[in-house]
Amino acid sequence: MTTEEAYQRLLAIVQEVNDLERAAAVLGWDQQVNMPMRGNRARAEQIGTLRRLAHARLTSPETGELLDRLAAADLPPDGLEAGVVVATRRVYERERRVPERLVTAVELAAGEAFEAWLAARRERRWAVFAPAFERLLGLVVEVADAVAAGAPDQDLAHRRYDSLLYLSEPGVTTARLEAVFATLKSALVPLVQAIQAKGGEDRERLLHGDFPEDRQEALLRRAVTAIGFDLERGRIDRSVHPFETSFDVDDVRITVRYDRNHFGRAFFAALHEAGHGLYEQGLPRAARRTPLGRAISSGVHESQSRLWENLVGRSEGFWRHFLPVVREAFPAAFGEASLDAMVRAVNAARPSLIRVEADEVTYNLHIVVRFEIELGLLAGDLTVADVPAAWREKMAAYLGVTPTDDLEGALQDIHWSSGGIAAFPSYTIGNVIAAALFAAAKADVPQLEEGFARGEFAPLLDWLRTHLHSLGARYDTEAMLERVTGRGLDPEPYVRYIRDKFSALYDLDR
Ligand code: ZN
Repeated sequence: MTTEEAYQRLLAIVQEVNDLERAAAVLGWDQQVNMPMRGNRARAEQIGTLRRLAHARLTSPETGELLDRLAAADLPPDGLEAGVVVATRRVYERERRVPERLVTAVELAAGEAFEAWLAARRERRWAVFAPAFERLLGLVVEVADAVAAGAPDQDLAHRRYDSLLYLSEPGVTTARLEAVFATLKSALVPLVQAIQAKGGEDRERLLHGDFPEDRQEALLRRAVTAIGFDLERGRIDRSVHPFETSFDVDDVRITVRYDRNHFGRAFFAALHEAGHGLYEQGLPRAARRTPLGRAISSGVHESQSRLWENLVGRSEGFWRHFLPVVREAFPAAFGEASLDAMVRAVNAARPSLIRVEADEVTYNLHIVVRFEIELGLLAGDLTVADVPAAWREKMAAYLGVTPTDDLEGALQDIHWSSGGIAAFPSYTIGNVIAAALFAAAKADVPQLEEGFARGEFAPLLDWLRTHLHSLGARYDTEAMLERVTGRGLDPEPYVRYIRDKFSALYDLDR
């Protein structure tokens, strides 16, 4: 077999895997957007079958042999072929390390844990969820031990957490995350306290009112188009929880949920999901249907949504451009609103109990709570029964608020019920990367933010296309950051951005 033949053979395999995965994604999209409630069971079976076929195809011995042969073949390192080989090797190694038996066991246990989670939420009691979660957690630990990606000289909790990160955030280590969270905690906890001490009126009230859905929809379509989301290669639909999914670089779906009484919910969800969508629409067309043509990781994906939602969508420049449009759409609510009041409203910061409602200042502290609890669970320092108490204690220490029951506490997120341990840090990684990339873009592109006020967002999108989107999954998270910013995962630009922005917004002494 020549190198060219081997490459073509590998390509055929990854294309088939891609098509199976994307077909499963279409079924997943339909499940959340169109499917009647009772269709759940059949849909789970259909998606499961496609995923199993994809997994088996990808992890077959033939794939390993082809990858070995091609790695030895001296392909030009910057070429498409080498990129496809490197990116395929990464997903191949990842998928191959989790035994099929465990995949099925986790799926089953997650199904039961999800049911228990729903029941526990109805009763607002963690104890109802705890036994099923305990079984699921045991299996996740087995997965982590099977993957065994952590450095051997580490303690058990770090080794296991590293293994789970390897599956979701390849290239990012637990030690790196601990350093990031330590920096964030020491910067953000006092900032939250200083903002709280200022008191003042409820700035966010401006966003409450009566906002008919059709007008919200017209407005958010205009906003996502303005930042560059291509509706000829994408769609916007409705679902209970907003999300983004893509089937190809030319078919990217986002969803939103409308709240008739709140302006910000759908609008910012749309900017967020469109940010994810812009990444997908910018992935390298030449690498379609291969692992190279995919996003780097969920954290990098999240950096794109947060960049457009927060650093662009909550900036003064953006509102200089958009406030007149919003005033026209909703004269009763915003006819009299000043630019200053609007910018303050969309950036109102206040400690809250619920992560998904958190603002830019407090958000990462919610993640710290979860990260520390997860590490405790993996180390065995913390039992499942102890989680609510640990939750209350950490929320009080970092955010100064305490949940009155478990629904407002440890039962609020779906992640743990589906086996998503070590998944939360991706959100913080996203925030941190968004600020680092934005700082790098500002240094490269003169007048970047000034352009927002004129509705010019293309220079930022072009920069992201060049430095991130068009490279696909050629580099892992740390290597990509190293190339673009000269440093790896570094929280400094994020801390600087948050301090500057919120010190000004809340007239804090610097
Ligand atoms: Zn997101």
